[in-house]
Amino acid sequence: MPNAARIERIYGQVVRRNPGEAEFHQAVKEVIETLAPVLAKYPEYAEHKVIERICEPERQLIFRVPWHDDRGEVQISRGFRVQFNSVLGPYKGGLRFHPSVYLGIVKFLGFEQIFKNALTGMPIGGAKGGSDFDPKGRSDAEVMRFCQSFMTELHRHLGEFTDVPAGDIGVGAREIGYLFGQYKRMTNRYESGVLTGKSPQWGGSLVRREATGYGTVYFVEEMLRARGESIDGKTCVVSGSGNVAIYAIEKLQQLGGRVVACSDSNGVIHHARGIDLALVKRLKEVERRRIADYADVHRDASYVAGGRLWDIPCDIALPCATQNELDEAAARRLVENGCTAIAEGANMPTTPGGVRVFQQSGIAYGPGKAANAGGVATSALEMQQNASRDAWSFGHTEQRLHDIMSGIHRNCHEAAAEFGSPGNYVLGANIVGFRRVADAMLALGVI
Ligand code: GLU
Repeated sequence: MPNAARIERIYGQVVRRNPGEAEFHQAVKEVIETLAPVLAKYPEYAEHKVIERICEPERQLIFRVPWHDDRGEVQISRGFRVQFNSVLGPYKGGLRFHPSVYLGIVKFLGFEQIFKNALTGMPIGGAKGGSDFDPKGRSDAEVMRFCQSFMTELHRHLGEFTDVPAGDIGVGAREIGYLFGQYKRMTNRYESGVLTGKSPQWGGSLVRREATGYGTVYFVEEMLRARGESIDGKTCVVSGSGNVAIYAIEKLQQLGGRVVACSDSNGVIHHARGIDLALVKRLKEVERRRIADYADVHRDASYVAGGRLWDIPCDIALPCATQNELDEAAARRLVENGCTAIAEGANMPTTPGGVRVFQQSGIAYGPGKAANAGGVATSALEMQQNASRDAWSFGHTEQRLHDIMSGIHRNCHEAAAEFGSPGNYVLGANIVGFRRVADAMLALGVI
């Protein structure tokens, strides 16, 4: 059977076997539609049904998470963990707490995570989990009770050699603390390596908090360097104002970029003089407020509820909010306005139509599984420190992150050229990530 037809058939099976999971279908399609040339060059992958096996998670867990709110009422949330692939190492990937979470979101994220983690070159498999619990507006005590109930079920499926969750949207150092506390209590073990994204005060790694945002900017730096350019003096827009966006803005500013806009799910802040990052950090990290409040402090900044961030002219755009936040029309606007580099700090933020626009325009486009791999790579560095009961300096850890991001860029760049599409980081990232997983799957047999 010709390889294109084989891939089409596999995709059809995925859609049929996973009905109603649109994001998962999208993530699978974006990867496997680029793999025909790989199957042509290495027929053993088709012979051993490697793609078919990769598309089927090794294990999927769905569980009830009951908890008491502050009024004493019982609430019932739903918990998920999809352990997708463990040929390269223990399952690794974050937990997302957001009302939009359902099995299709967790599976798209888990599928992406397999290839992202493989790209880092570290010994980590792919997984994702989370809950439809909405932390917004919940008290600390409610978040703690929820986390304890969630971990009471999940703990039996985890372990430093089995499955190592971390944060994602709605899960930061506070939640990781409550989850770790409950894991420790349930197991009677101080097993530092079972979760990453811990506070550096009790077993976490320096630079983990900054890693996804910093790594995304390092990836941009490398893409621009390959074209003889740099970040210095460039106008930038960053969507979101959470952990990834904040540290992407910080690194852009350190490298001379002028960041003029950021956002949250309610609206957009445009500040031509440059975003005041200390204020964003205070509003979002300390006070857990909305980005709208920024404009109360800076009268020369504008806030537009429901505004369109991608209409703001820029040289560099970093989608750092959530999936499918940048569609075809937005991609067109960015390109028309002269944007020359896009790197995804979020997972799958660009719709397939948007990706097509970027690729046809020839601008530098770094897909999430390459550009945002710095977060999980630094989680793997946290696991290394935990395994050796050591704690590295900020400088050393940041240097390791920087080297990993340069390596990912180089590998993707070379693979794209080798397979006849120079500059196509989508193709490069999919091929490098897939081959590393596929070769391990062949070596480990039909499991
Ligand atoms: N949630 C992050 C990601 O999308 C980090 C996962 C981790 O550190 O395990 O890669």
